[in-house]
Amino acid sequence: MKLKKNCNWAKSSCTLQTAPPYVGHNSPHLPCFCIAISSAKHSDSQEHRYIGRFAPSPTGPLHQGSLLAALASFLDAKAHGGKWLLRIEDVDQHRTVQGASQTICETLEAHQLFWDETPIIQSDRDVRYIETLQQLAAQEQIFYCNCSRKLLKQHSGPYPGSCRTHKQAHYRPATATEPASHAIRFDVGHKQPIREQFIDRILGQQSFDVEALGDFIIRRRDSLFAYQLAVVVDDADQGVTDIVRGADLLDSTPWQILLQRALGLKSPRYAHLPLLVNSADQSKLSKQTGAPAIDNSHAVGNVLKALEQLGQVLPIVPPSVTRPAPSTISNLKDPQLLRDILAHAITHWDAHKIPVSPQPIGL
Ligand SMILES: [Zn+2]
Repeated sequence: MKLKKNCNWAKSSCTLQTAPPYVGHNSPHLPCFCIAISSAKHSDSQEHRYIGRFAPSPTGPLHQGSLLAALASFLDAKAHGGKWLLRIEDVDQHRTVQGASQTICETLEAHQLFWDETPIIQSDRDVRYIETLQQLAAQEQIFYCNCSRKLLKQHSGPYPGSCRTHKQAHYRPATATEPASHAIRFDVGHKQPIREQFIDRILGQQSFDVEALGDFIIRRRDSLFAYQLAVVVDDADQGVTDIVRGADLLDSTPWQILLQRALGLKSPRYAHLPLLVNSADQSKLSKQTGAPAIDNSHAVGNVLKALEQLGQVLPIVPPSVTRPAPSTISNLKDPQLLRDILAHAITHWDAHKIPVSPQPIGL
């Protein structure tokens, strides 16, 4: 899929490639707002540079949970005077939905979450993933696994390391009708410590047993590169220093840290956000559990709702925003009002206020 031809980000005339500065407006709506100058809090020196990112998979439109992740990563970046990048994670092309990338971009733009720099698209980046595999192969940190699905099913727990000695193989990629000759796995038993730990900015100290992770797949039997590999390579290539994302990805972090170590990369700082869950059954808000797509015409309300879910100080807004009536519906997408709300949110952003536990919402 050639997304670049369709999406706004590739148009040379597009003004949205560069985020507008959040400098003060004497807003007629919100005279109590502080003036926010995003670069004022921290210097942008090399030592303290901040690069954050939002990395959606184009499997459908954004819902409130994914908007929350986008907003939190955006605010954290801007509050640190940093950059906020966008990456389309379509490495699993079987799950990609036609047109979803465009829809996601439009939703971000409607909520004035403007990204810095041209986004990268994972399906364009096989060359970098192959280079990385070659590096890991040269370090003998990968092996070729031809265990059948049936064999793996018979074994409970992490991958038992059966093929760890297969450091060389005649690898045949997948074809339209045949899977690849092997899956390629990362060898967690190779030069790894027994336990690893990292500090999550929201959840605190995290510790994990490396051997219990199992030798995870980094190139699948269908020859697609695995998410864990792609994320690590992309974050490094984009210079990402800070990852703010949903807690459903907390379990992926140990694998990504192991890959970063193996590749000689510095790990970014992590902050895992509380998930939004359905109040009825505590299931994660997702398309599969009936989460509705974000309504761009309610951008102001959507952002206010997300700020509340993130435990942030809410601005004082006209009653018509929180109790919309048909006659005041224009307030819900008023660009100036939204700009002022975001400026306020950047100035008052406090990651320590983000709740740790899942946030129930009614659908
Ligand atoms: Zn195997």
